[in-house]
Amino acid sequence: MEHLERSDSPLRVGVIGVGHLGAIHAKLWKGVAGAALAGVVDSDPERAKKIAAEHDTQAFAGIGELLAAVDAVSIVTPTSVHAAVAEQALQAGRHVFIEKPITARYAEAERIISMADEAGLVLQVGHIERFNPAFEALRGHSLEPMFIESHRLAQFRPRATDVAVVLDLMIHDIDLILALTRSEVTELRASGVSVVSDTIDIANARLEFASGCVANLTASRISQRQMRKMRLFQRDAYISIDFAQPSVEMFQIRDDMSGAHESTMLLGAIEQGTKQRVITFEKLPTPDTNALAEELAEFANAVRTGSQPRVTGRSGAEALRVAEEIMREIERRAVVA
Ligand code: NAD
Repeated sequence: MEHLERSDSPLRVGVIGVGHLGAIHAKLWKGVAGAALAGVVDSDPERAKKIAAEHDTQAFAGIGELLAAVDAVSIVTPTSVHAAVAEQALQAGRHVFIEKPITARYAEAERIISMADEAGLVLQVGHIERFNPAFEALRGHSLEPMFIESHRLAQFRPRATDVAVVLDLMIHDIDLILALTRSEVTELRASGVSVVSDTIDIANARLEFASGCVANLTASRISQRQMRKMRLFQRDAYISIDFAQPSVEMFQIRDDMSGAHESTMLLGAIEQGTKQRVITFEKLPTPDTNALAEELAEFANAVRTGSQPRVTGRSGAEALRVAEEIMREIERRAVVA
């Protein structure tokens, strides 16, 4: 892999697609250490000019022109064109950060992963919740959930309805759950409904893993209330993660208070066989970080040092593979019904 560590020059990054999220990529790239925003491009040239002016950078006339001027790109176009744009960038020898879901179809993801591997280029997928301060707060804790319940509910907005809610929202939780369980899905049940768009707007899936863990996922983009919560149940602990706050609450049953933090509260005692154990509650400290800035910095670091990013193309593809199975199951049930 051609790394940039030999040179002191910053990593030149271009953003392809500067709609809602791409504009935020452009803004944040300016603050990533060792990187420089070299320009933006959008199929809507007026939009590209506007965002370029806001961030004092260049608006390129086309993707080819931008690729000639950068080392790496953020791809933040609608999902339906992720694969075509990524192929163009990888063919030009550019490292790729691609928003989630990696592509609209698993076969496309396989293709871009092979292209990146063959060319020795970094391919990172924007599964941003892995960098959420609440998820970060759990690093170093022993997580072996046996039951997971996730709810990701959003209000309706016409943006991003080019894909089903499973690919737009539920895929965040699929990725998190695959990272937490590190196990194969062995059983899958799902159902979903199209309410306001032509694709599935609300979905529920139940995944069983080889490890014995069961996950129950609900995602909706037609809710009145917003919610991004995950609850983990494991032996001797219940953990409640609120990605929107962000916050993490942990209830534990332990032998005693040794090793407990100052902030850990003793809630009571419980008889277990011949032993008396204690029930504790603690709110984990969450880092004061911006998840998107963190994932862009990790990508820049991977390009410069050859380290493996947390969310590789392969992780993005695995989440997509499970999402596709969920959608197939939803369609199968709809046909039977
Ligand atoms: P958006 O519609 O606001 O922006 C997309 C932009 O891409 C538009 O400006 C459009 O003109 C431009 N575009 C379309 N086709 C193009 C092409 N071929 N070449 C160049 N530009 C093109 O969409 P958005 O909400 O910003 O979402 C973009 C991507 O980011 C989607 O894949 C979405 O799933 C992802 N996303 C991720 C998160 C997250 O939590 N990580 C959140 C929102 C969106």
